[in-house]
Amino acid sequence: MIIIMKMGAPREEIDAVMRKVEDEGYKTHPIFGVERTVIGVIGDDREKRPGPFERMPGVERVERVLRPFKLASREFHPHDTVIQLNGHAIGGEQVIVMAGPCAVESRDQMTEVAHAVKEAGATVLRGGAFKPRTSPYSFQGLGEYGLKLLKEAGQAASLPVVTEVLSTRDMPLVREYADILQIGTRNMQNFALLTAAGQTGRPVLLKRGMSNTIEELLMAAEYILAEGNGRIMLCERGIRTFEKYTRFTLDLNAVPLLKQLSHLPVVVDPSQATGKWDLVAPMSKAAVASGADGLIIEVHPNPSDALSDANQQIKPDTFAQLMQDLRVLAPAVGRTI
Ligand code: PEP
Ligand code: MN
Repeated sequence: MIIIMKMGAPREEIDAVMRKVEDEGYKTHPIFGVERTVIGVIGDDREKRPGPFERMPGVERVERVLRPFKLASREFHPHDTVIQLNGHAIGGEQVIVMAGPCAVESRDQMTEVAHAVKEAGATVLRGGAFKPRTSPYSFQGLGEYGLKLLKEAGQAASLPVVTEVLSTRDMPLVREYADILQIGTRNMQNFALLTAAGQTGRPVLLKRGMSNTIEELLMAAEYILAEGNGRIMLCERGIRTFEKYTRFTLDLNAVPLLKQLSHLPVVVDPSQATGKWDLVAPMSKAAVASGADGLIIEVHPNPSDALSDANQQIKPDTFAQLMQDLRVLAPAVGRTI
């Protein structure tokens, strides 16, 4: 349920409504807009009575949000969420590009890639230190040492960093290093992890589960929002289909659809989705054309030697060329890079 306050309703009236909502056992999530305040009422889904709130001073109307996701919905928050990060606005006019290797492997690798992607115009450095591998015998990431190398390279190139957190156990450590916490496809419905990420208040890159629906992705975002953290990017990274030539099938329908259903910024990962380095550039362009607010792209100085995802990482030169092409394409869809 959302309570829409009258235009210019004074603070005392807003506070009185919030107190009453909380007295009834619900959580309040106010949005203080320029013109008016909207109060999200969240809690147990059983019968809520709009009546008592409707009659309070300053209240214009009370509406039920019919979709199962509430705080993530456009109804609750009609304007686009814009996440401020190191002078960049994610979800604004600029398309944010996060780039870097699948996994942090060494200091030299990170230094080289960080400077290369920065020079090409990337705004965030990526790199996994805790890797969710299908086989327990595959490279699992460098752990805390990897986080240190990532942060160090990010600082040297003046780039904020995004890295995956695999479990609630690692959260206190990862949050010390990550400017953006990545929740991977295999953890999209790890509800304890979503709640923990919500509690950090850090921006979260939430990847769609490879077998999850768009609605389930939005419900996962709802867990983070319910902790009071609205700084979420939804990430389409490919879903499982019968097609075998690509690793996953990039569901670009999800981009405009998520933008309709939700106010949260949408990011596309063409690297995991295709699994093929030579499909990354075309699908990055398609993602921007479809309205994505950001891209996350795997770039490695020497992809054939990569310790994970060797087939899908692109070289710094290929990345630089892609960025040039995107600079031409973006204005056609009203964006900058
Ligand atoms: C990754 O970004 O390297 C990764 C493992 O992503 P996903 O969770 O989408 O597979
Ligand atoms: Mn990867």
